[in-house]
Amino acid sequence: MTYVAHAERYDTMKYNYCGNSGLKLSAISLGLWHNFGDVDRYENSRAMVRRAFDLGITHFDLANNYGPPPGSAEENFGRILHDDFKSYRDEMVISTKAGYRMWPGPYGDFASKKYLVASIDQSLTRMGLDYVDIFYHHRPDDMTPLEETMGALDHIVRQGKALYIGLSNYKPAQAKKAFSILKALGTPCLIHQPRYSMLDRWIEESLLALLEDAGVGCIAFSPLGKGVLTNRYLYGVPEDSRAAGHSTFLKSEDLTGNLILKVTMLNKIAEKRQQSMAQLALAWVLRKKQMTSVLIGASKASQIDDCVGALRHLDFTVEELETIDRILEN
Ligand code: NDP
Repeated sequence: MTYVAHAERYDTMKYNYCGNSGLKLSAISLGLWHNFGDVDRYENSRAMVRRAFDLGITHFDLANNYGPPPGSAEENFGRILHDDFKSYRDEMVISTKAGYRMWPGPYGDFASKKYLVASIDQSLTRMGLDYVDIFYHHRPDDMTPLEETMGALDHIVRQGKALYIGLSNYKPAQAKKAFSILKALGTPCLIHQPRYSMLDRWIEESLLALLEDAGVGCIAFSPLGKGVLTNRYLYGVPEDSRAAGHSTFLKSEDLTGNLILKVTMLNKIAEKRQQSMAQLALAWVLRKKQMTSVLIGASKASQIDDCVGALRHLDFTVEELETIDRILEN
């Protein structure tokens, strides 16, 4: 059936300016790392993008290597765009990245101009797009001069193949240098994409302050700890979960007794706040004023509904935050 977007899709979602730019992102963004590859069911992937958009999620995050196999998430997203979203392109922010191994030989990985310029062309072809809104360098590379990588990103914007530039997984010192090169080139960095959740707080040390000073936005990936910070694993490992599936990035061995005990205690706080565990984890990430958006993954549309429900209760009392800190420290 022809897809018609929900008429009230913009009524409840929150939109935040991305750093000092004029671009707003939905406070919740959808990532296509898992559950959008050729190994997954197309109709389920399609239903998730539809549901996200109906809930006001405007930002969709991809990378050249998402699948499996690598490239297939972009291809499937391109098919969804073609099937359902032709008339909605200007209501969407579409991001992709390059930085991990994508094709054989010395030019299919890391950070050279040769790799990045070829990779954006491949991504655009797979998605059937003329341009992406944000193009990221996916991970820093000590072997390539930052000037070359940032020069390539600036070149891609000037070619009209991306509107904005982002960096992911850059540590503060690398990010600071990269921001100043990009600024001098006339293509300021729009956004940084680090991992951040209750289980990984490294960005609190100095990255967030740097982003605020530089006027760069922040989007946290894996804010649910790949599914751990939800009710998913409280009573075992469900068969349809990431930990039970083919992903090598979360294994059932990672779900230690101590970790599940912590989540059980956090879940009690969530219940008191009349939230799901996932909603508590997302609200907690969004408490940081530098946070433009949280970048969730999902395996079914109902999870996206639940996650967007986090926006109904974003405030924390000092006591709640202190209790959460104590649970996380143990
Ligand atoms: P999350 O931490 O949000 O974990 C997503 C998983 O949590 C889902 O697959 C699902 O697990 C579970 N889940 C989601 N919502 C709920 C809910 N309401 N209730 C119960 N369980 C829920 O993020 P990801 O690790 O998937 O990463 C998100 C995105 O971040 C990626 O798609 C990608 O775009 C980006 N990313 C970027 C990286 C980078 O280097 N720049 C690295 C990693 C991710 P299940 O599948 O078991 O149902």
